[in-house]
Amino acid sequence: MGGMPIFVVQQHQATSLHFDFRLEVDGVLRSWAVPKGPSLDPAVKRLAVPVPDHAMSHAHHESANVIIWDEGDYDLAGLTDGNLSFTLHGTRLRGGFALTRTGPKQWLLVKKADEHAVRGGEVTAEQPGSVRDGRTL
Ligand code: MN
Repeated sequence: MGGMPIFVVQQHQATSLHFDFRLEVDGVLRSWAVPKGPSLDPAVKRLAVPVPDHAMSHAHHESANVIIWDEGDYDLAGLTDGNLSFTLHGTRLRGGFALTRTGPKQWLLVKKADEHAVRGGEVTAEQPGSVRDGRTL
């Protein structure tokens, strides 16, 4: 394992289909459920609901109801009580993002305006399925 923390975005078919966005922080996967999934458009703010930390081993988890939609490592750019700023090095998600708390159980996931931003479109629809083998739920 290298020295950089990892991230994973898993698409999860539960009661409703959603994405789980997970960042390695202090040896666990801090996790948010993102109902609509991440966007590459800086104008789009995606609701991210905090969910319990997961063990690092969960980063490799795929099952009948879970696919790994994207994965990679990341650079932490800033960490304060209600704000995480980071640069993702994934296959589908690249560049700067921020997670900002806006309420007790409500955060927003937003793409930063950089060379990896894409205005319009929907990356989760344009690039569906597991980033590993293309399997869809
Ligand atoms: Mn989930």
